[in-house]
Amino acid sequence: MSAVTDILVIGGGLAGLSALTSAAESGASGVLLERTASLGGSTVLSSGLMAFAGTDEQASAGIEDDVERLRHDLLETGRFRNDESLVDEYCAKQLDTYSWLKALGVQFGVAHAGSGQAVPRSHPVDTASVIDTLGRHARVLGAEIRCNVRVRRLLVEGEQVVGVRAEIGDDEVDVRAGAVVLASGGFTQSEELLERFAPAMEHALRAGGAGNTGDGLLMAAKVGAGLADMAFVKGTFGIFPWRSAAEEGTGILAVYKGAIAVNGYGERFINESLPYKVMGDACLAQPEALAFQIFDENVLVQSDASVPIYNFRRRLEAGQVRRADTLEELAEQLGIPADALCSTVTGYNQRLRDGAPDALGRTTLCGGVGKPTPLDTPPYYGFPSTTVVLATYCGVRVDNETRVLDVFGTVIPGLYAAGEVTGGFHGDGYVTGSSLGKSAVFGRIAGRRATAFALGSLTSVAR
Ligand SMILES: Cc1cc2nc3c(=O)[nH]c(=O)nc-3n(C[C@H](O)[C@H](O)[C@H](O)COP(=O)(O)OP(=O)(O)OC[C@H]3O[C@@H](n4cnc5c(N)ncnc54)[C@H](O)[C@@H]3O)c2cc1C
Repeated sequence: MSAVTDILVIGGGLAGLSALTSAAESGASGVLLERTASLGGSTVLSSGLMAFAGTDEQASAGIEDDVERLRHDLLETGRFRNDESLVDEYCAKQLDTYSWLKALGVQFGVAHAGSGQAVPRSHPVDTASVIDTLGRHARVLGAEIRCNVRVRRLLVEGEQVVGVRAEIGDDEVDVRAGAVVLASGGFTQSEELLERFAPAMEHALRAGGAGNTGDGLLMAAKVGAGLADMAFVKGTFGIFPWRSAAEEGTGILAVYKGAIAVNGYGERFINESLPYKVMGDACLAQPEALAFQIFDENVLVQSDASVPIYNFRRRLEAGQVRRADTLEELAEQLGIPADALCSTVTGYNQRLRDGAPDALGRTTLCGGVGKPTPLDTPPYYGFPSTTVVLATYCGVRVDNETRVLDVFGTVIPGLYAAGEVTGGFHGDGYVTGSSLGKSAVFGRIAGRRATAFALGSLTSVAR
């Protein structure tokens, strides 16, 4: 492994590979270190939805969207607690990043509606192939990628980060770099950090890459990095509550295609069109943190095998979605009171037919998209659901050039960060596809900016 490089990237998910690739394209030598045996991190476990506005796929489907609407959704869903400069940078660079990925060979599917979206803008991608594509491209440009190497510490001289100390088997090696890009993901796999920063998620499930234990957050904290959005870690609604071989970490969101959500008493408890993290909190507040998505055949037929959260049929085949000819039978299968479930569904349907306001304020299917319709076409379906922490949406404070800022807001020279290890972008809420989106957009920016810094500052780093 090279002992000296222009850019050293920590973590082989979407943010890290985007950074490595853009650094290589900008003419830097680059080394990426990944602690697990393979690339991909949470990226390859995800549902693969990316939030972009103004795409070819939207245009083909007749969906009108623009960057102003995207910006508004990001800020409104984040309850205006986002760092606006990061949102603005995302908005300015998102379409260019989408085109960059496309030019590299990434294929985007038909855009779906998702959490916090005024119009459908969740573009499905095959994440494994995105990782593979970026990795191959970076290697062709001369970058080096090493798995099974865990970075343990950032090396600092004066105030500047000048490399990393990494662990290879029982050995420790130092790699000197003109700049370091932290792209080590979040901390969904660290009970200790979740307990410290997200105690309200105690009863939520966890998902994410095996290596995502918050190493980057801790290493950055040790060199003085500030933190952002730490109070806003939330779980996502819709995962099957009991571990099973069929579980892949993503749940289903039949609610966004017309289902209702009821608790163990058979009663609705939330406007189902709200962002799935708001629903995640509401679900955790129900008895046993348990809910059920209830739907009919009209919803089931919208199942889409290419989008995990909308692949209802797969969950049916796995026995997780229960099917019954009547609501009474469905209630019995799910272990909830039949009279309550029937009355909930009947009341919901009647209000829709009468054009009466919904008691919980639902006027759309998902975000600003779609109109609810009565659940009256058998067979009926029910999917037990709870909340899962898929990602941690908070972390190291960065500016819009991805430079890591210290606790006083001053740039830490030589240290950049992108992806789930960073905070500030989402604020107090989450728009579907914005995690993968930010990993690609800011990963790419980090590669370029770190390169500009490294190539201009190498005299200060012994090479
Ligand atoms: C089930 C699930 C579904 C999701 N669905 C979506 C979705 O549809 N759309 C969306 O936008 N987001 C989604 N997310 C969130 C999204 O996948 C992540 O936020 C995003 O992939 C993060 O990318 P990243 O590159 O920052 O981190 P990761 O992809 O997690 O990569 C980080 C890498 O760093 C490595 N690493 C950690 N520490 C070290 C170290 N010390 N040394 C070396 N390497 C290290 C890790 O092993 C990992 O491989 C989902 C997440 C999950 C778990």
